[in-house]
Amino acid sequence: DKKVVLITGCSSGIGLSLAVRLASDPDKSFKVYATMRNLAKKERLLECVKGLHKDTLDILQMDVTDRQSILDARDRVVEKRVDILVCNAGVGLMGPLEMQSLDSMRQILEVNLLGTVQTIQAFLSEMKAQGQGRILVTGSTGGLHGLPFNEVYCASKFAIEGACESLAVLLQHFNIHVSLIECGPVNTDFMANLQKVELEDASLQQVDIQTLSLYEKYLQHCSDIFQNAAQDTEDIVKVFLDAIQSPSPAFRYFTNSVVPPLTKLKVTEPDGSQYISAMSKLIFSTEEQ
Ligand code: NAD
Repeated sequence: DKKVVLITGCSSGIGLSLAVRLASDPDKSFKVYATMRNLAKKERLLECVKGLHKDTLDILQMDVTDRQSILDARDRVVEKRVDILVCNAGVGLMGPLEMQSLDSMRQILEVNLLGTVQTIQAFLSEMKAQGQGRILVTGSTGGLHGLPFNEVYCASKFAIEGACESLAVLLQHFNIHVSLIECGPVNTDFMANLQKVELEDASLQQVDIQTLSLYEKYLQHCSDIFQNAAQDTEDIVKVFLDAIQSPSPAFRYFTNSVVPPLTKLKVTEPDGSQYISAMSKLIFSTEEQ
């Protein structure tokens, strides 16, 4: 029998790649429900799976901020069960905190935190009743340690860690495994899709000169990191497959196989000061480049 997989945020990036890989599995082990907020964007996914049998892929509309659309998507799953739920949809928000509107901050929390939690909610009773299941969540190293100019994004990803860890403790009693796939920078539409304060933005003039110069350094750091160290979605998909295929998956997977040194610092030096100065040095000290 095929494993039924439902994935959120499949119009681009990690969600799209994962949907393509699972739907084109050589053993046809999966039936994939690739969901996306806007079905008008399904062409890219359809192009990638050209020539595939229809019995491994279905595309459904689902906006993770809209409870009814989640329930509608759930009701359209023909098998009436989901074995593997992948909560992947997410958006970024970047810029000096004093410039963020309440609306844009709300939107990030709405998609990243509440979107993930209410998607899980919708499938939880059925998974418990089945006595088996997998919940995979696309996490971020920004959910493990803070990043300047990403306060609300990090807050949303930290919050997911808390929600998932709490659930994992409970759900092992139901044979349901929760796993976070912790990604560093990945080559996707994420940087293009995120809400970002641009340097040319007139509103940046409201911000003090020191913040402005630090933000410039941050943006430079960011673009260097994405150019030099970003992973491809295929690398991320491999890690998802590891988690899916493992009989007893771990709670956390790191996509570049090792725990990043800065993340480790947070654990080994719990008072936090070493992490904060190391991160500050990494991003803001120009001598280091
Ligand atoms: P992406 O922008 O290509 O994909 C995100 C997807 O989520 C898009 O298809 C978007 O349409 C969808 N989405 C946004 N709001 C939605 C909503 N309300 N309902 C349903 N779908 C919605 O970027 P990506 O890198 O593939 O992002 C996937 C996940 O990976 C996100 O959770 C992101 O936070 C996480 N992540 C990305 C990176 C990176 O560097 N790209 C790093 C760490 C974590």
